[in-house]
Amino acid sequence: MSTVAEIFDTMSYGPAPEADTAARAWLASHSGRFGFFINGAWVQPQGEAAYLDSRNPATGEKLASIAVASPEDVDRAVAAAAAAYPAWAKRRGHERARVLYALARLVQKSSRVIAVLESLDNGKPIRETRDIDIPLVARHFYHHAGWAQLLPQEAPGMVPLGVVGQVIPWNFPLLMLAWKIAPALACGNTVVLKPAEYTSLTALYFAELCEEAGVPPGVVNIITGAGETGQALIDHPGVAKIAFTGSTEVGRIIRARTAGSGKKLSLELGGKSPFIVLDDADLDAAVEGLVDAIWFNQGQVCCAGSRLLVEESVAERFLAKIKARLANFRLGDPLDKCIDMGAVVDPIQRSRIDQLVSQAESEGGRVWRAPVTCPPAGCYYPPTLITHLGTANTAWREEIFGPVLAVMTFRSVSEAIQLANNTRFGLSATIWSENINRALELANAVKAGVVWVNCTNQFDAACPFGGYKESGFGREGGLLGLAEYLKAKHEWLDVGEVRLPSPPAVAVQGRVAVQAHAAELIDRTAKNYIGGKQMRPDGGDTRLVAAHDGRAAGRVGVGSRKDIRDAVEAAFNAEGWAKTTAHQRAQILFYLAENFSIRAPEFKQRLVELTGVSPAAAAREVAASIERLFSYAAWADKFEGAVHRPPARQLALSVHEPLGVVGVVCPDPLPLLSFVSLMAPVIAMGNRCVAVPSERYPLLATDFYQILDTSDVPGGVVNIVTGASDALARILAEHDQVDGLWYHGSPEGSRQVEALSIGNLKRTWVNGGRDRDWFSPATGEGRAFLAAATQVKTIWLPFGD
Ligand code: NAD
Repeated sequence: MSTVAEIFDTMSYGPAPEADTAARAWLASHSGRFGFFINGAWVQPQGEAAYLDSRNPATGEKLASIAVASPEDVDRAVAAAAAAYPAWAKRRGHERARVLYALARLVQKSSRVIAVLESLDNGKPIRETRDIDIPLVARHFYHHAGWAQLLPQEAPGMVPLGVVGQVIPWNFPLLMLAWKIAPALACGNTVVLKPAEYTSLTALYFAELCEEAGVPPGVVNIITGAGETGQALIDHPGVAKIAFTGSTEVGRIIRARTAGSGKKLSLELGGKSPFIVLDDADLDAAVEGLVDAIWFNQGQVCCAGSRLLVEESVAERFLAKIKARLANFRLGDPLDKCIDMGAVVDPIQRSRIDQLVSQAESEGGRVWRAPVTCPPAGCYYPPTLITHLGTANTAWREEIFGPVLAVMTFRSVSEAIQLANNTRFGLSATIWSENINRALELANAVKAGVVWVNCTNQFDAACPFGGYKESGFGREGGLLGLAEYLKAKHEWLDVGEVRLPSPPAVAVQGRVAVQAHAAELIDRTAKNYIGGKQMRPDGGDTRLVAAHDGRAAGRVGVGSRKDIRDAVEAAFNAEGWAKTTAHQRAQILFYLAENFSIRAPEFKQRLVELTGVSPAAAAREVAASIERLFSYAAWADKFEGAVHRPPARQLALSVHEPLGVVGVVCPDPLPLLSFVSLMAPVIAMGNRCVAVPSERYPLLATDFYQILDTSDVPGGVVNIVTGASDALARILAEHDQVDGLWYHGSPEGSRQVEALSIGNLKRTWVNGGRDRDWFSPATGEGRAFLAAATQVKTIWLPFGD
């Protein structure tokens, strides 16, 4: 027994465990065995039931048996959600707002028992579940109750999607549920959600809150199980959208399996995020930041700052401070309010961490483990640093998803940027500096969806969260998050509604159908346009292009893999375009429109000749194309981000950034207008474009070269490769230097683009064989195009001391 005087000397303190009586009583009320929550009631699995054990990772104790949903169970849940959808979608926004508000209130009223249940099931400290996870869950439901109320006015013309399938990971079980369910419900969708197999308990508890809050039966359905259950859900034809948070590996599987299905998809995936400490940083604050970045939730955080980049001049001092801090770390019972770190989620996860650390060591990394005592039983892993790394080391490249920090130093800001971006991921970045100019320079340069300046791991329901590159696509939070659960009512022309002039029925391939006056066209072979130059197709192949009456109108190149590669390289090298000011891009687009106007009569003539439309229809298409360039000249400096005021003393800025290199595969109808409508928003937002023009009428795009040449568009910003659209689309989809791909063509072509884009998880936008009304400003231009041409970076800036 210590005396008070001794305690003043040592500052030691004993355990302060949170009682788990209420949480255990709830488990007992279900006899420790759970079925599914379908159509507002608890149901048992159909047929031969299988169960998984849900265990407390801190002790290994079994907490409950969790049923594994079979495809038949998934079917039942989707059917219930589909039956509930029409009435829920029709409810007034205010009625949905009341339900979401009731959920927010109930989460607050049950916060203690939920926090304890989450700690028991996941192993994370009660301090975190109590002070971070559960308050953020409540905040999410409040915020989205507000959106349900406002959406009819704030998102006119937008409608819900239908049944949404949601699959979530184990690291923030209830928080990820809230991120998924709140926006889906606010928009009028119904939901089937599958929590992770290790951590289903709080989702099951939430099911009961739904009953109490008056969520109508079938609007929220919770099914449990492992990967096969998740797969059955994403494969289900009754699901209109998949929202997935989890590993990049499974994200890729989901992208491939949903290809061509028309299901909307958002993927929040893994990360390997840099934590950058400049020499002018407040080092003590940065140490605390780092603790929150990589030892929060035992490092099992998608956006964990798992790669420390510290400026060489302060590296030694900074590492000494970290080691001193970690030497006093407390590992232990997650329900103890005095611990810093709890248990990792499962023995499998612990051995995976161990194996990756050993591998990093065998590759030359030097491993330092904090001298802390791990409890003898349970799934604990000490805070760990790995130094002496090269960029090829496993610890630097791979997501370890545990309390392990990879350390490297740098000498200049440019080196820090280069190292920070040297990763296939792009979820988040943290920058520590007392110099706001340097910090913002870095924030601008890092390729990540979320950037924290002098803070880390901050989240809020109003602030977009999501990744660049292989960290996925789609955002959660605020209006952008809601966009993932809505669609435009009139984006596509209805089946059978033919408002476009029919293209002439002529054969365009081969010489047979084309009347032979080809000899005179030898000098009229349109080449590809790459890097601002006309380039002969690599294979030397050309083909005749027919006019509407079957006469030969000219020759074009037949683009190959090599031509696409050259075009992508030229586009990649034209990176300067992304850094030009929006004002400059606007001027160039206006200038393009001006030069196009001068040549309007020629284009009109060409349209008549090639497509057989009337002179009046051709004049209308040319005029609309010129006007479209004006629209995007106008938009270039107006599609701006937002400033958020999260509840803490911070500002969060969401900024639109270009994707990079975007492939654009254009349709045949309205070949000039559709080409301009797809190319212009891409470059207006600072992307570089590789366009594959209409396969049938490529000459309209090739005639456009001269306008590009005379309008100050830098070489490589627009590249045009003619040829077989679907073959070229496949090459673009497989190319890992292409960051986005827009495809307008057949349903099968759309499927291929989505299925083949999994290499770098590029952002795809396909038409699924549908037509749009290109003339209408509501569907042929505007925010949907601009949003597809950009990705949002959210930069968090604290203020005050
Ligand atoms: P995981 O991908 O293994 O599992 C995630 C979920 O997908 C689980 O519910 C699992 O049962 C299910 N699943 C597994 N295989 C499936 C399949 N073939 N089809 C459909 N569903 C399938 O990931 P995890 O180990 O549970 O979680 C850790 C990963 O999640 C890490 O990579 C982490 O970075 C990522 N994560 C990302 C975010 C984010 O917002 N970006 C947030 C949290 C976690």
